[in-house]
Amino acid sequence: MAQKLVVGNWKLNGSLAANEALFGAIGAVAGVDAAVCVPFPYLAQAASSLRGLALGAQTVSEFQTGAYTGEVSAEMLAELGCRYVIVGHSERRSLFGEDDAAVGRKAAAALRAGLAPIVCVGESLAEREAGRALDVVGRQLDAVSAVIGASALARVVVAYEPVWAIGTGRAASVDEAQVVHAGIRGWLAGRGAAAARVLYGGSVKADNAAALFATPGIDGGLIGGASLAARDFMAICRAAASGA
Ligand code: PEP
Repeated sequence: MAQKLVVGNWKLNGSLAANEALFGAIGAVAGVDAAVCVPFPYLAQAASSLRGLALGAQTVSEFQTGAYTGEVSAEMLAELGCRYVIVGHSERRSLFGEDDAAVGRKAAAALRAGLAPIVCVGESLAEREAGRALDVVGRQLDAVSAVIGASALARVVVAYEPVWAIGTGRAASVDEAQVVHAGIRGWLAGRGAAAARVLYGGSVKADNAAALFATPGIDGGLIGGASLAARDFMAICRAAASGA
């Protein structure tokens, strides 16, 4: 079985001094692949300070070059040492108007530059309560597949992040997560991409990580708040290693 993957999403947090302390306190854990996705201005610092963890960014332009003020291309991220980039995080979708098609184009841009897009999918609370979680996730995945093509799906990391679990302290239960992960796995397998990793994200903490990572179909985690505390992030990495 492939090693689990734990990815920290720092969101809009950090400072040169705070980052240095955090980088000094996190490191590789045997038996787990780990990465941190930092704000753009800190990529170079992270590339020189990280020990044994891969580097990622939190979003990317769909464009490669040209008159797109403020945008950052996938090629630039690759040049700075990124291996991963998050696309379609629910905060990008809800706060910055990124729709399913734009998420697909961003995933395609990442692949073009040799990065692995971490494609976030997940339903809102209202959608879950209406019994539509699997439909929503399927629609979001279909949109990405329509742009990148099914043959590229194996190079994608999928992160199932129920919107109601992100930053709320209310993680999905093992049963809730298992149902959707099984649906995503089925969707991937039906397109020849059974090897793609599927992460769970949404209020993963040191005390619930082991149970989530032991759940069939969960290949690791996308970690927001807990990735900013070295002790918590390392505990989550250790839980992933022992659950591999
Ligand atoms: C996230 O932002 O991707 C996330 C999962 O956040 P948190 O772990 O804080 O819920």
